[in-house]
Amino acid sequence: MATKQVDVVIIGGGPAGLTAGLYTSRARLNTIIIERGRPGGQIASTTAIENWPGTLSSSGPKLMADILAHAEHFGCRLIKDEVIAVDFNSYEKTILTKKQDEYKAKAVILSPGAEPRVLGVKGKRNFAAGAFLIALPVTLIFIPMPGWW
Ligand SMILES: Cc1cc2nc3c(=O)[nH]c(=O)nc-3n(C[C@H](O)[C@H](O)[C@H](O)COP(=O)(O)OP(=O)(O)OC[C@H]3O[C@@H](n4cnc5c(N)ncnc54)[C@H](O)[C@@H]3O)c2cc1C
Repeated sequence: MATKQVDVVIIGGGPAGLTAGLYTSRARLNTIIIERGRPGGQIASTTAIENWPGTLSSSGPKLMADILAHAEHFGCRLIKDEVIAVDFNSYEKTILTKKQDEYKAKAVILSPGAEPRVLGVKGKRNFAAGAFLIALPVTLIFIPMPGWW
């Protein structure tokens, strides 16, 4: 097992973790982000983002790649691994990963986000996008009707 010393460990490389990494690295803190999947988190799976201030439209993967590059520009490092245990009981925090690396850090930022629960039904993958497209118009139809809720 290899033990590595850093200032800040960020658990989760979604929008929250990448943004935190940008700020801590820019403040000259030796920072790593540990991400078990693809960097960018949930939003990296969407094609259109229209509520990012200053940008009329962007895609999830592009926006996340830009924020990651921005964080890396200031020295932040992305580690592809999964955190499986933490110990926050002493001043120096300990983080253990699936690849059996151990990190010691002065601070830990938790940004593990969320994972939508999927229906345990046949064909759920095929209909995942369709369900949203159907649910949205149905919601729009029902909302204006008084007395329905
Ligand atoms: C299809 C879709 C479209 C969306 N569109 C928009 C939009 O247009 N505008 C908008 O504002 N929001 C949108 N959202 C919501 C947005 O994606 C979330 O609010 C945002 O991703 C939350 O960011 P986060 O960093 O907190 O968490 P997440 O995005 O959930 O990222 C958390 C990350 O932590 C990692 N992680 C978790 N546990 C561990 C562990 N133990 N070890 C290592 N890594 C770990 C996960 O792999 C994940 O990558 C959309 C969401 C989806 C699913």
